[in-house]
Amino acid sequence: MPQRPIVASSLGARLDAAAAAVEAKVVAWRRDLHAHPELGNREFRTAGIVAAHLKALGLDEVRTGVAHTGVVGLLKGGKPGPVVALRADMDALPVTEEVDVPFVSKARTIWNGEEVGVMHACGHDLHTAILMGVAEVLVGLRRELTGSVKFIFQPAEEMPPAGEDGGARMMIAEGAMEAPRPDAVFGLHVTSRLPLGDIGYRPGPTMASSDTQQITVLGRQTHGAYPWLGVDPIVTAAQVVLGLQTVVSRGVDLTHEPAVVTIGAIKGGVRGNIIPDKVEMQGTIRTFDEAMRDDVHERVTTLAEAIGRGARGHCQVCIRKNYPVTVNDPELTAAMAPTLARVAGADRAQVVPKAMGSEDFSFFQRVVPGLFFFVGTVPTGTSPDAAAPNHSPRFHPDEGCLILGVRALLHVACDYLESQGPSAARAPGSAAVGATA
Ligand SMILES: [Zn+2]
Ligand SMILES: [Zn+2]
Repeated sequence: MPQRPIVASSLGARLDAAAAAVEAKVVAWRRDLHAHPELGNREFRTAGIVAAHLKALGLDEVRTGVAHTGVVGLLKGGKPGPVVALRADMDALPVTEEVDVPFVSKARTIWNGEEVGVMHACGHDLHTAILMGVAEVLVGLRRELTGSVKFIFQPAEEMPPAGEDGGARMMIAEGAMEAPRPDAVFGLHVTSRLPLGDIGYRPGPTMASSDTQQITVLGRQTHGAYPWLGVDPIVTAAQVVLGLQTVVSRGVDLTHEPAVVTIGAIKGGVRGNIIPDKVEMQGTIRTFDEAMRDDVHERVTTLAEAIGRGARGHCQVCIRKNYPVTVNDPELTAAMAPTLARVAGADRAQVVPKAMGSEDFSFFQRVVPGLFFFVGTVPTGTSPDAAAPNHSPRFHPDEGCLILGVRALLHVACDYLESQGPSAARAPGSAAVGATA
């Protein structure tokens, strides 16, 4: 997508120096956010801190209340040029923290009717603090900055509460990607799958689509000793679970992309000698290709319905599309790879495998080309396999990843803006890093 090769920004080492100067603040913000986590669509305190920071910095625009609690800031550089959007998510998870740190979360709240602990178990506290630091650095270099930077602080990446709308899709619907429309969008995620100091990225499909399936098997209640007098939804549900195992194994071209169909919950019946009227099942579907996604949905629906009919019962299948495939624009990814290698060190920036997890950053990438990359959190000396993963109550990222995240977003944004700006050096032999290396 970049029209010209990506060259290293003339701000170069000044970005690194400014990042180092702001590191202590980023750590402090992160710890404060960590101690006060908020669930999706409830990021009131977090969004207030972000908005106050952006306003104090003197950004050209600060919009609040986007998709409930989202904040969108705009910084116009002193030189004309394109627009990049940088995105951080702000929400925490219903997890009770088990990490022994002075800034441990003691927060509790009500989530979908249940009292739960709240923890930044996915590291969105780091993302928010990193982007606050990036904003502070870029404001300091405002006069020399080419183009504009849009800062998107997003609520509810981990899905809004039941019955509510939210997240990236809603921010886009409320204009976050317009006025001005960015030319590219960048985001990062901290991960326990990579050691501290590593940056991981991947061109093309990178994280899976995520959809929920709800299957209700309807039978007819009867005595457990007289099954022929009713229709048994328990046995039918068992057949549906086993039948669904063939959707991927027999129906999907696994040489093209992987896919997963999982049933994670089955509820039906109250005692052993009663065959109930119905069984309810819930599951998740993951794919890496939109056509395969629709195909898997169709296969799950027709197979479950057919099994239900075959048992003289009825299966109601409801598949809800949540997040699309996170697809990194291949040309943009290739063009930015040298920047990531320069930031992390050539041997510390690597192409990583696909992840079956999902991200609603994918919605931003449907609007403009985007690159979503990973920053390692596992301290030196610990294997990523031994580290508590994201979403664990023991997730404990090494804060050394913060400055790497700040530097990565700074260089990615400035390299892109300067290279694509009207005054970009196009002479052969300039400091071109090369779009097609
Ligand atoms: Zn997460
Ligand atoms: Zn996350």
